[in-house]
Amino acid sequence: MTLPSRKVAVLGATGSIGASALDVIARHPQALSASVLAAGGKVEALLALCERHRPEHAVIADAAGFDALREGLRARGLDTQAHCGSQALDDLVGSDACDTVVAAIVGAAGLDSTLAAARAGKRLLLANKESLVLAGELLMRAAHEADACIVPIDSEHNAIFQCLPDAHAHAGLRRILLTASGGPFRGRTRSQLGEVTPEQAVAHPKWSMGPKISVDSATLMNKGLEVIEAHHLFGRPGLPIEVLVHPQSLVHSLVEFVDGSTLAQLGLPDMRTSLAVGFGWPRRIESGVAGLDLLAHGKLEFEPPDLDAFPCLRLAFQALAAGGTAPATLNAANEVAVSAFLQRRVGFLAIPALVEDTLAALPPTPASSLAALREADVQARRRAEQAIGRAARP
Ligand code: NAD
Ligand code: MG
Repeated sequence: MTLPSRKVAVLGATGSIGASALDVIARHPQALSASVLAAGGKVEALLALCERHRPEHAVIADAAGFDALREGLRARGLDTQAHCGSQALDDLVGSDACDTVVAAIVGAAGLDSTLAAARAGKRLLLANKESLVLAGELLMRAAHEADACIVPIDSEHNAIFQCLPDAHAHAGLRRILLTASGGPFRGRTRSQLGEVTPEQAVAHPKWSMGPKISVDSATLMNKGLEVIEAHHLFGRPGLPIEVLVHPQSLVHSLVEFVDGSTLAQLGLPDMRTSLAVGFGWPRRIESGVAGLDLLAHGKLEFEPPDLDAFPCLRLAFQALAAGGTAPATLNAANEVAVSAFLQRRVGFLAIPALVEDTLAALPPTPASSLAALREADVQARRRAEQAIGRAARP
């Protein structure tokens, strides 16, 4: 079966997911083309990608980079059009410059472009989990109304997507089990985590990822965000979503049915598999990822998560249960705390402390509109920044 041709917008092209997406696209030159490349601020890295992939459009978020982007494209003799700013990005995502969007901007900064892709009915390869945490109901509704096909790219959710190919399967579902590697600090107690450095936190044992999600994996907030993500993608009233630590990162998640069957998707920890599923679905296409040699890997281990050492996972469950704006507050406080940790302004244990303090200080209100969610996001960032400022004062 041949793959239908796709014009792909890669948002977050200079990042880790962006690189994996462009790798898969380049393996299918007859069918896939990168028509729009967008990045935050690394103009030189974006220019190098434009030279290699020859998109019709390149977008830099930071206006200060626009002249360098335009001049760099001209100097390289490329006819790629230069753009800057989030409005230009949203317009391109909604236009016929693309039919498929890889949403791989990190953090809440990815919300608008992800929503624009959903509203325009695009095939949406959704890596930007924070947009689902922040505005999951709105995003899912927008996708449903515009008939956008969302393929989750997060490996766990991509695994569940593969295990639940049609709506009938959902009827007999008993629980969802998200696997977690446990991150670089698995097995440590809370008191052993006070002095860990950003370098140790981003050194993930199994996955190579951007700095923010790597820290999220070390605190287990990543799994917390993924529980909320799974709720929006697959949740039904009364359907438990549980977390299982699996250090080998080969079983990417499991679904259990009422008849006692459990289905899982397995594979090497390489995001190109999820992205190939996203581009090809329901077809299967080459991703560049080798098959899984279970004999070579030997053991598959499973253990419960340690919520004492890693309270971020507990906080995420609490925010999901509280509902309304609580997940938006959790996400924003976490973004501020992780960024401060990476800048060495706060220690590792301050991350859960800041998130917990912010959630306690800002009780949830109904998530009735995008404006209400944005307001919760702004308030939480302000509150978390203030707390960091107070702690830093002598
Ligand atoms: P990364 O830090 O490597 O890359 C982030 C990208 O976003 C960069 O291209 C950056 O330029 C761009 N960006 C940042 N701010 C922007 C803005 N305001 N406007 C436009 N572009 C902006 O991050 P990553 O690891 O590739 O992760 C991207 C997203 O995918 C995150 O939401 C993450 O949670 C999710 N995800 C990543 C992985 C992984 O393996 N890396 C796995 C699952 C989910
Ligand atoms: Mg994941």
